[in-house]
Amino acid sequence: MARYTGPVCRLCRRAGEKLYLKGERCYSPKCPIEKKALPPGQHGAARRKLSEYGLQLREKQKVRQQYGVLERQFRRYVAKAQRARGVTGATLLQLLERRLDNVVYRLGFATSRSQARQWVLHGHVEVNGRKVNIPSYLVKAGDEVAIGEGSRKIPFFSDVAQGAIRGPEVPSWLEVDRENLRGQVLHLPSREEIDTAVQENLIVEHYAR
Ligand code: SF4
Repeated sequence: MARYTGPVCRLCRRAGEKLYLKGERCYSPKCPIEKKALPPGQHGAARRKLSEYGLQLREKQKVRQQYGVLERQFRRYVAKAQRARGVTGATLLQLLERRLDNVVYRLGFATSRSQARQWVLHGHVEVNGRKVNIPSYLVKAGDEVAIGEGSRKIPFFSDVAQGAIRGPEVPSWLEVDRENLRGQVLHLPSREEIDTAVQENLIVEHYAR
């Protein structure tokens, strides 16, 4: 399963905002965006006015990188959102939010989506009592997501259960029982419940070209 393995802070500097790709460091003063949010490269400081296409591309890249999805898979999500009823941009974001690695991250069982992806790939995550090791697995309303019984002794998960490690705030469409390392999907998220700062209409326009 392919994934981006290059330097991630560079991606945030290119986007000009925090994409929260590095776990705990993202919430600390060590985050490069906190210090100096210049775009990467020798001429990063030089201001460039982006074309309409450039703006659309930037927005698409930002979301893709934030959720850790490669181009081919992202295209599939866009195609699925285009076929679905409703607002394409909101459906696209909902599909990305429903990914199992994102849900594990949102529940606070990982400090970044890439760490959540590792937990899923390594078989530490169960959905409705069955091990699922596919990060792109799409959860449904009512699903229960939990850390497997045998994985709970891993120090990281003990810390999460004891409240020593806290991830981002749990969104209203999820419910978490941190002590027992389990959570539930109450309903599928509406656009208002997704805090990803993105102009999804630009992404839809990008793929409509
Ligand atoms: Fe982005 Fe996190 Fe690096 Fe900050 S520390 S630039 S938020 S990946």
